[in-house]
Amino acid sequence: MSWIDPSFPHSATPSDLVGRVLGLNPGMMTGPGTNTYLLGRAHPILIDTGAGEADYPALFERYLRERGWRRPERIILTHRHRDHLGGVVQLREIFPGLPVSKLIFKDSGLPEDVDTLQDVGEIEGDGVTLIPVHTPGHASDHLCFFLKEESALFSGDLILNGSTTVIPDEDGDLGQYMDSLKRVQALGVKRIYPAHGPVIEDGPGKIQEFIDHRMLRERQILETLGGGPRAIPEIVKVIYADVSTALHRMAAMSVHSHLRKLKQEGRVSEEAVANGPSRWSLV
Ligand SMILES: [Zn+2]
Repeated sequence: MSWIDPSFPHSATPSDLVGRVLGLNPGMMTGPGTNTYLLGRAHPILIDTGAGEADYPALFERYLRERGWRRPERIILTHRHRDHLGGVVQLREIFPGLPVSKLIFKDSGLPEDVDTLQDVGEIEGDGVTLIPVHTPGHASDHLCFFLKEESALFSGDLILNGSTTVIPDEDGDLGQYMDSLKRVQALGVKRIYPAHGPVIEDGPGKIQEFIDHRMLRERQILETLGGGPRAIPEIVKVIYADVSTALHRMAAMSVHSHLRKLKQEGRVSEEAVANGPSRWSLV
């Protein structure tokens, strides 16, 4: 199965309590597109809204009709990235007054009338109870939602199925990301509904895989620096030797996220170089 899977279903009903409508925004960053999830029995809560693609609202309404639903009760957002909140305005045109909330944290340029959602307490829906869990690392405002009835996690971009999560230079933090993975690991998650890619049946296995993958990369970076000071492009060449050079820009961002974490931990140091990338060394 490829990451950008053109045969990924546009809508699906993965469980009695969970429906899924695809954001129709496939790409390198989004795989088959952003999953938007409808939770509950007759009056569903919508998690995320896709990127604002022109064909999304019609697909969304078709799925509502299929389920005999009139409208969503409210929208809750995992985080501020465009491919998750881009559909808010579109959906409010169809469903005036639709309440929208997210954890408001270092935000600017949000759509109008977005309420703040704290990572305390529970969100009660129609037959569903969600616990918001603050999980920064990919984005500082990131929430996952734990569905008590299924012990399932709506993981947003914390955990994807088919790709690793990007830790952006701007607003990302790998140390926080690792803490967030450990935080959701402690919840007793069974199934994971990711924002990108198919449902993950073995939640604990996938969380462990994500932790192990980052630990492996960290070991590889430390090993490479064991040979002496290196700049990021040199490190990428060594540890991503088997990855297409088209992906090396993304790889460089990932290596940078590791180096920032290791620097915070006092394990590596950065030496600025005039007209070139910094050189990094073991402390
Ligand atoms: Zn994101």
